[in-house]
Amino acid sequence: MPLTIFTHPDCLKHEMGINHPECPERLEVISQKLKQASIASQLEWKEAPLATKDQLKRVHDSAYIEFIFSQSPRQGYVPLDPDTIMNPFTLSAALRASGAQVAAVDEVFSAKTKRAFCLVRPPGHHAELHEAMGFSFFNNIAVGVAHAFAQYHCQRIAIVDFDVHHGNGTESIFLYEPRVCFWSSFQYPFYPGTVLTGKPSHIHLCPLAAGTRSDIFRQKVNLELLPILKDFKPECIFISAGFDAHQGDPLANLMLTEDDYRFITEQICEISDAFAKSRVISTLEGGYNLQVLGNSVLAHIEAMLS
Ligand SMILES: [Zn+2]
Repeated sequence: MPLTIFTHPDCLKHEMGINHPECPERLEVISQKLKQASIASQLEWKEAPLATKDQLKRVHDSAYIEFIFSQSPRQGYVPLDPDTIMNPFTLSAALRASGAQVAAVDEVFSAKTKRAFCLVRPPGHHAELHEAMGFSFFNNIAVGVAHAFAQYHCQRIAIVDFDVHHGNGTESIFLYEPRVCFWSSFQYPFYPGTVLTGKPSHIHLCPLAAGTRSDIFRQKVNLELLPILKDFKPECIFISAGFDAHQGDPLANLMLTEDDYRFITEQICEISDAFAKSRVISTLEGGYNLQVLGNSVLAHIEAMLS
């Protein structure tokens, strides 16, 4: 069964100014790598639809959604925070990025495919109920998870976030939703200034010191993540797939490699085979070294196909 990739040309038109690391070229290098890879024939590319306001309202305040629509500029830039900036195409790109999740959920839950990857930007995992931050406008993965609850009556969904930054937005949106099991590994202390204590039992944080290498990361996966997932028995696993914990990333200081992304993805997929009818839906978050990003995503997708 092929793996479906949801993307859209609108996601290439959103840009936040010269030298911003969250740039359109990120998607271009990934697309190019995937299309030239030996697995290319196993990938089915589909256009991401626009998320509707009703789909966004499941995880964001109505007033916040209207605010984002109202800020969309006809020309030039509108900064929502120093790093999170709208151009005339940002709104449509953000709606496609969340819409990709909705389409991926429909595809996977109707058994058209087992696994899907949303090749989209802007990323989403920093976006909170009523706040854009950290390059994120709408919380794409949360929109997808909420769609799975609303449309397919799921009872247990796991979210694994291995971006180098804590998925604060995803955590805050599902802080009181025990049908979600959230595991986030991240550099600590680091942006966005995470507090580690006082979390409910379905929120699992895995802080990693600057300089953390593969062996410690894999140990955390084996000894912390996998037992949590086996105990939870998810019906579907969502991945916030950020690749900025790579040793070559310019924004952070962890030391992971392409093989670590292959490893964690294989482990997640094994759990999905045992409990979740093999359902895995992954979405691109961070990853800012254009030289290694394509290979990191390729390793992730190869593991999803195996
Ligand atoms: Zn990140």
